[in-house]
Amino acid sequence: MSESMRGTRLGYLSYETDAHVVPAERQVIAYTCPVGHQTVVPFSVEAEEIPFEWGCRCGRTASRTDVDAPAAKPEKHQRSHWDMLLERRTIADLEVLLQERIDLLHLQDGVKRTPLRKSA
Ligand SMILES: [Zn+2]
Repeated sequence: MSESMRGTRLGYLSYETDAHVVPAERQVIAYTCPVGHQTVVPFSVEAEEIPFEWGCRCGRTASRTDVDAPAAKPEKHQRSHWDMLLERRTIADLEVLLQERIDLLHLQDGVKRTPLRKSA
């Protein structure tokens, strides 16, 4: 290590200056929130996807004014627990299981009630 570097915090302090540094090309996108605040956000010209919405400083959602809102993507159907259950069991199976559980509950009650449906 040379004498001149002794005592400096290597890796923390940079002696590089901004001279001759060419910033990446940018595009400036303006967002306007519902109450009219303007937010200007610089993006790289290489940014592949510029968001249509941006959080405004007031907490509302600001949107771009230079382009139309993107068409809403068709919502992907989320499988519910019920959908998954139906993939494994038929309605007839489920009715049998339901009746078994109801019978068990009635046995615990000590009361025998008439079944909801007659089993086939
Ligand atoms: Zn705002």
